Parts: sequence; C-alpha cells; structure tokens
Amino acid sequence: MAYSTTVNGCWNGYTHAHETGHNQGCQHNYETTPQSGFKNGWRKCQSGSPAFKTIMSYPCSGEHTNEIGVFSNPNIYMPVLGSTERMGDPVTAHCARAISESAAAVASFRPSGGGPLSGVMLLRSFRRNRMCSDENGRVVCNSTEIWIKERFFMETLGPNSIAVRGGRLGQYCSDDVDRVICNRDQRRPGPWETFTVVPAGANRMFLRGGRANKFCVDDGAKIVCNRDAVTASDVFGFEYIA
Ligand SMILES: [Zn+2]
Repeated sequence: MAYSTTVNGCWNGYTHAHETGHNQGCQHNYETTPQSGFKNGWRKCQSGSPAFKTIMSYPCSGEHTNEIGVFSNPNIYMPVLGSTERMGDPVTAHCARAISESAAAVASFRPSGGGPLSGVMLLRSFRRNRMCSDENGRVVCNSTEIWIKERFFMETLGPNSIAVRGGRLGQYCSDDVDRVICNRDQRRPGPWETFTVVPAGANRMFLRGGRANKFCVDDGAKIVCNRDAVTASDVFGFEYIA
C-alpha cells in the first residue's frame, strides 16, 4: 500500500507515524492483534512499574499508559518515569526492523524524487560493531545502548546528499577539519554540513564529508572525513527508529 489516511483531528501525537508504520509492515502489539513474527508493537501493562507503549501499540486498559515515541526495537532502552525499559523483543516486537527491511521497496514506489535517507536513525560503525553517538565535541562509535545521543536525524538534501543532526543538541553535524562534530546551530545546512551517501548494500553506506569530499571513517576515537579511499570495514550501517 502506498498511502494511508489520517483524520485531521489526529494530526498530533503519533497517529500518522502509526499508520505509516502499518504501510511498512508493522502491526499492533501482540495482545491487541495477535500476529506471529517480529513485526508487532511493544507495550508493558502491569501495576507496580510504569505502563508504556510504543507507536504501534494500543494503550493498556484501565491504567495510564505512557506513550514512547519510538517503534518497537529491542536494541533501544528508554527512561520511563525513572525506570529503564527495553522497547521491544527480538523475536516478537521489532517493528524498526520491518521498517528498515521495507525501506528500499517504499523508496522505489516513485522512480525519482525522494532521497537517500530521512528520518530518525541509528548509525553503526562496522569497524567496531558499535552504535555511534553525538558526544560533546565529536561523534564516537562506542555505544551498545541507545539513548538520546544515539539518535541521528537525517534529512535528504538531494539524490545522494543528506544533512544529519545529532541527538544531543539537535544541531547539524559538520565535516570539521579534524572530526565530525554536531554543533552547528543554524537553520540550513551549508557545504560542510552536507554529506554524500555512497550506497553499499542493504542498510549500509559509505559517507563523504562536504568540506573536502573525503570519505568518513571511524578512526577508533571519532568519525573523521579525511580519507581518499576506504575498505569494507569503513562502511556504516543505518537503521530507522522513527
Ligand atoms: Zn493501527
């Protein structure tokens, strides 16, 4: 299905994200609409700890349900009223995977337009098999859990170009001279904030920085865009989470 409709009174909260999640293969939480497989939403309803739901899930009955603005994803942990909660289950509730796996098909519904990446994503360094995070002063790929700093907001600028905002401050990431740093407090990305995506298979890409058009790599301490050539282990993975 290539479109969905949302009653205009529902243009707040996560209703539109929920319907688009259906279009990309996600289902409700298992208790509400039992479906086998991993594409279910995730929720926890129990007294004694905070009840919560992810975008595809229905609220718990009879108790206030905190709505967490992510698709179900067992790799993500979020704070819920002081408690740390896992946002999915690898076997039954990994809607983010369904979205990632359908992304290429959805992106090709129309032959032109659109762009390489947009949405909230995790970025993974294959060199260390760790998630990247927007740290103060640089981007470091050393995370095994996903919090706010591990979220990157991707914007399509052209057929192969994107801008990226870091999750820590929501500011644009820039191909600065000796590192990528997400501290550009400006309304529009400039040349240094424009990255070129070089596709490298499903959910994988190489990146080039906009300042010198060099490849970006995880050098062990940070991401830096200073290479003329890259190897397979310099590839970055990406996964949609919202
Ligand atoms: Zn629904």
